[in-house]
Amino acid sequence: MTAFQRCINPKCRSTFGITEVLHRCPTCGSLLDVDYEWDKVSVPKSLKYFEQLWSERSNPVRFSGVWRFHELLPFAPIDQCVTIGEGQTILQKNDAVASYVGKDAGSLFLQYEGLNPSGSFKDNGMAAGTTHGRLVGAKQAACASTGNTSASLALYCGVSKLMKSVVFVGSGKIAYGKLSQALDYGARTVQIRGDFDDAMQRVQEVSKKKGIYLLNSLNPFRLEGQKTIMFRVLEALRWEVPDWIVVPGGNLGNSSSFGKAFIELHMLGLIDKVPRLAVVNAAGADSLCRLYNDEGLRWNGGDIDTAKIDAFYAQMDQENRRADTIASAIEINRPVNLTKCLRALDFCNGVVRKVTDQEIIDAKAQVGANGFGCEPASAASVAGLKKLVEEGVIGKDERAVCILTGYQLKDPNATVAYHGNDRDFFESYLGKHGITEAQYANRPVVVDNDIEKILDVLN
Ligand SMILES: *Cc1c(COP(=O)(O)O)cnc(C)c1O
Ligand SMILES: [Zn+2]
Repeated sequence: MTAFQRCINPKCRSTFGITEVLHRCPTCGSLLDVDYEWDKVSVPKSLKYFEQLWSERSNPVRFSGVWRFHELLPFAPIDQCVTIGEGQTILQKNDAVASYVGKDAGSLFLQYEGLNPSGSFKDNGMAAGTTHGRLVGAKQAACASTGNTSASLALYCGVSKLMKSVVFVGSGKIAYGKLSQALDYGARTVQIRGDFDDAMQRVQEVSKKKGIYLLNSLNPFRLEGQKTIMFRVLEALRWEVPDWIVVPGGNLGNSSSFGKAFIELHMLGLIDKVPRLAVVNAAGADSLCRLYNDEGLRWNGGDIDTAKIDAFYAQMDQENRRADTIASAIEINRPVNLTKCLRALDFCNGVVRKVTDQEIIDAKAQVGANGFGCEPASAASVAGLKKLVEEGVIGKDERAVCILTGYQLKDPNATVAYHGNDRDFFESYLGKHGITEAQYANRPVVVDNDIEKILDVLN
């Protein structure tokens, strides 16, 4: 087999077969990668190769925006790959948002991953994750989720009928757009009286006890699918590597997979320039930002200062600090892919910033007013870019791509609370996250049911 699993710790590097179901390295406990004997797989000589595959669009696997790049994630035979039509996403040059963040016209691009079948980028990973589940004969798959992973898992299982899905969510924290998807798509939905971290803990215990295939962020196969977001960005830019990729950071799976994509493309000689990576935390869930900027934590050739991480979390627990942000998809204080993200930041000469919920919700309004819209977590990328331009870290003319991770209707409450006239709703939904203003609000006009008064309003 040319694909295998490998521990990311350079001191360990243990390898495991592709059909072994593991969550961490059994030898040292580090995260696992999917890796390949690249000299034994046929890798295209140029990324242009993938353009000719457009002519094979009648084949569902080649129509997929994930499996169209099968040669760069060849862990399963192509006829075994699961697809429901993911990855038909758009890279949009957006000059209005460029102006908002202080950038030159033509220099800002938005990558709309909300256009995926379940409305978030998670579908890229789920196509790959369920493919591996199928490979190992899984009958049931489970995840814990702040919402989008559960929606995606529920959809993939519901459509493909390959396995049953069980999703664990904390109670109260999940946006209704996302919860409604899990229910509608037929997942067994377990609402635990607790938060995301509690749900995460339980799903691991349960899947171990019942032999259920786990599709949370630790799953390295999911991250293989998410590499293709970068392949599509490059393709849309006619294979010209941009200067910056800006992405929100939650569990740090996406940033990790982007880094892996560029490490591999560079190693295979398919790109000669590596973009810089900016990972953006919410201020209320800023572990990466604190560890990277305040504590100076680095990949350091894989020799990560784990004592620093342990001390950080111990302090966090002691202060009883809990993640808290309107951007529920990144409301995570213990990102499971932290070490892989450090590797990505190292390779891509990355930076990390945090943005307030006020900055996030204003950026979201700007994306909505000038583009296809997005959910709050996605707008952290635009808010983060604005900050980095103000700081002079990102040049006005440098080409930057913001990843819009999820669709606008995922969290309609946030949008209606911002634009609407109901001050109580504003306070209860946004105010409690420290949001005080709605300077880009597009207020609905309330008017008596009277033709004259309605005409007056429109004058
Ligand atoms: C999952 C998710 C994120 C966070 O991505 P990570 O890979 O966990 O860092 C950001 N935005 C949205 C909409 C998501 O669903
Ligand atoms: Zn190991």
